[in-house]
This record gives sequence, C-alpha cells and structure tokens, in this order.
Amino acid sequence: MEQVKVLLDETEMPRQWYNVQADLPTPLAPPFHPATMEIATPEQMNVIFPMSLLEQEMSPQAYWDIPDEVMQVLALWRPTPLQRARGLEKALGTPARIYFKNESVSPAGSHKPNTAVAQAYYNKQEGIKRIATETGAGQWGSAMSLACNMFGLECTVYMVRVSYDQKPYRKSIINTWGAEIFASPSEQTNSGRAALAENPDHPGSLGLAISEAVEDAATRDDTNYALGSVLNHVCLHQTIIGEEAIRQMNKIGEKPDVVIGCIGGGSNFAGISFPYVREKIKGMDVRILAVEPASCPTVTKGLYAYDYGDTAHLAPIVLMHTLGHTFVPPGIHAGGLRYHGMSPLVSRLAEDKLVEAIAVPQLECFEAGLMFARTEGIVPAPESTHAIRGAVIEALKAKEEGKERVILFNLSGHGHFDMSAYDAYLAGQLSNYEYPQSMVDEALSKLPHVELPAM
Ligand SMILES: *Cc1c(COP(=O)(O)O)cnc(C)c1O
Repeated sequence: MEQVKVLLDETEMPRQWYNVQADLPTPLAPPFHPATMEIATPEQMNVIFPMSLLEQEMSPQAYWDIPDEVMQVLALWRPTPLQRARGLEKALGTPARIYFKNESVSPAGSHKPNTAVAQAYYNKQEGIKRIATETGAGQWGSAMSLACNMFGLECTVYMVRVSYDQKPYRKSIINTWGAEIFASPSEQTNSGRAALAENPDHPGSLGLAISEAVEDAATRDDTNYALGSVLNHVCLHQTIIGEEAIRQMNKIGEKPDVVIGCIGGGSNFAGISFPYVREKIKGMDVRILAVEPASCPTVTKGLYAYDYGDTAHLAPIVLMHTLGHTFVPPGIHAGGLRYHGMSPLVSRLAEDKLVEAIAVPQLECFEAGLMFARTEGIVPAPESTHAIRGAVIEALKAKEEGKERVILFNLSGHGHFDMSAYDAYLAGQLSNYEYPQSMVDEALSKLPHVELPAM
C-alpha cells in the first residue's frame, strides 16, 4: 500500500511556538488605543487581556516554551496527521504531490483550539474566572468553550445573528461544553442595544460581535476577552501546525515548493506558514501563498493602513490590510473568511513580498471542496475550500508545465456544521460575487487618523 499518512508520536511533538516577529525584515508598527488615539500601552490592554499574552503579543523573542498543562490538552488530538492527497492528485491528473495538514481532527473540528487552549490557560494563571468572546461561523466559540471547560473557566459567546440562525448545532456544541451563547447584536451590552435600536432585524457582523465581547470584558473585573485570530499571540500559538509539518515532511524526505493556507484573519495560515517563512528568510526556496475570497478581498484589494478592529471602536487600532471596519460581506457569500481586517503579521509579510495572496471566487472553491470530499473523504469547511482551490490551481499549473511539484496546504477544518452552505451550492443557489472597488474606496474613507511619533 502507498503511504497515506505521516504521523509523529508524542515524543516527537514540537515543545515551543515560533514567533516570526524575531525575523521580520521590517518590524511591526505599534497598536493605537481607540479612545486616546495614542500608542496603546500594555497596562491599557491589560483591562481585557492577561499580561502573559500581551508579552507574547509584543515581544520579539523567537521561541516560547509550550506549558505542560497546555501540551497535555493539545495531546488529546495532536500531533495531527500530515496526509498525501493521492485521490485528489489522480482526479486532477497532476504530476504534483499534494500534502495537507489535517487540522479537522480537533474536538471542535478546526485549528482554533490550538490557541483557545493556550489562552484559557494563561487567563486562568492570572486569576481570571470568565471569558467573553465573539464567534462568526461558530468555530471560535466552540473552540473557546471547549478550552474554558478544560481549565474551569466560565465562557460567554456572542455569535453573529445570521450564523446563529443558520447553524443551530454550533449553539448546541457550545452549550454542551458548558458555555452560554447570545445572538449578536444582543440586549446584553450597550453596543448590542444600540445596533438593535437602529435595526431590530440587524443580521450582526463580526465587528459588532467583537464590540459586544470587548465591552463585556472591559466592564467586569473577573472577565477577559479572547480573540480567535488576527493578533500576534494567536498566530504564535498556531505555529505548532507548521512546526509539526516540517518534522513530518522531513520524515519522508519531502520539501514543499509551495505552502498554502486560506486567510480570514490569518491565523491558520500563520500556523502552517510562519515556520516556513523562517526557513525562507534563511534561504529555503519556497513560495508561501495565502488564499482569500473574491467577495472579501482584504489583502488583494484592501489598503495597508491603520484601522479599528471592530465597528464600535473599542478594539485596538492596528496597521494591517483592511476593507474598512464598516465592511459588511455580501449576503450571497457562503464561504466564511468575512473579517474586514487581517493579521498585522500576515499583512507585514505580504508587504515585504515574503507571502503572496490571491482572491478566488466561491463557486470554484465549493467545486474544489466537493472534489476533495469525493476523493479524500473529508468534507472540508467552506473556509478550507479556499486553500484546496489554491492547491488545485498550483497542481494544474504543474500539469500544464509537465513539472513535478510538492504542494503543502493546511486543511483548517471540516464542514460538518456548514452543510447548509453545501446544500446551497448543490442546489445551484450560489453565485460568484467580486467585491467592487467603489465599495472598498467608500469604506476606506472612514479610516481613523493616527500619527506615529517621530523617531
Ligand atoms: C476561523 C476559521 C478560518 C479563518 O480564520 P483564520 O484566522 O484566517 O485561520 C479558517 N478555517 C476554519 C476552519 C476556521 O474555523
């Protein structure tokens, strides 16, 4: 039998996270406080985040030991398999060898518990009793409720209203792990009540749900906020994916020509790719490709500018690629990856050309997702189909050129809770939608003005 899976045993697991800040050609610009419009201090951010995570957020230290308590929980599903997608290769008739890192095997079904577990641990260490957070499609809310449950923390999740209505089983799994959940906008917060007063049928947005969770955390001493993507410490915790992948590829004597991930806020892409960015900076010949939806084209069409992280201007202002914090994704878009901004680290690497980005239309993503489900058996999350589409594009290029190529992509999660999106695709109800430049320009006219002090 041909080898399908490359496994690591527990003793071969990476014991440290990698911080790409240590090797950036251009250092990150500082975050600004949304109220004072001055550079945000750790003391200010300590109102909603524990000091240990802020330290990881801002430090250029290259490696961080993964605490034993965190390893213990991660070991419930890690190391995750590296798999060769032979069925997909065959269906495409490509000479390329396609590998994927299977993050869908976590209890919540995605990569998100990798950071949720670490965040719950550090908050617990600093005496926090409760976490408030938001969730879009429900993946992050599930991951955080799982992690809080593991460390004995309470957890409140604000879930974007449209998803809350479309994905009732996300609520069930969040409740199963002991957390409480509200559809956002909710009556629980000022931001939520203001949005409902304006529009009682408000569909909600990720930016608004973030506002509710941040407000909840900022107004209660025993409560902190946790974000599932974008921030540097989140990207740091996800690098266990890439560190495992490097060990697994080494085991079979393979070296990827291209490493691919989908990008919403950038965290699973950071996870698979930052350890390869390190190797690339050291001289490895590897392309690193981020794939985003054409209907939410943050890196390919957005501006690299300071913007708010949320609609209510409560989250820090950071320098990143953005479509404007007022961005609302088109209703037709079914593939997730809806956030208006991007991880400042991924943005910085894109500006420095260490990372490439492409935007792909949703029908091609679902088509690739279906092909993957029918050849590899795993029904991918709609988000992950973007990475699969990226791998298919590369594999077909290799076929056209008649060249061998080694492709590695991250399968960020499975789609078992997203079957309504597949139903819509199979019923022919989805269409492509390219977010128009005029709407990008309009949203970008609302960016905040901050000034960096002279150096
Ligand atoms: C949340 C999520 C994403 C997008 O978030 P990133 O921070 O960009 O990784 C992608 N895939 C899955 C399965 C998710 O749950």
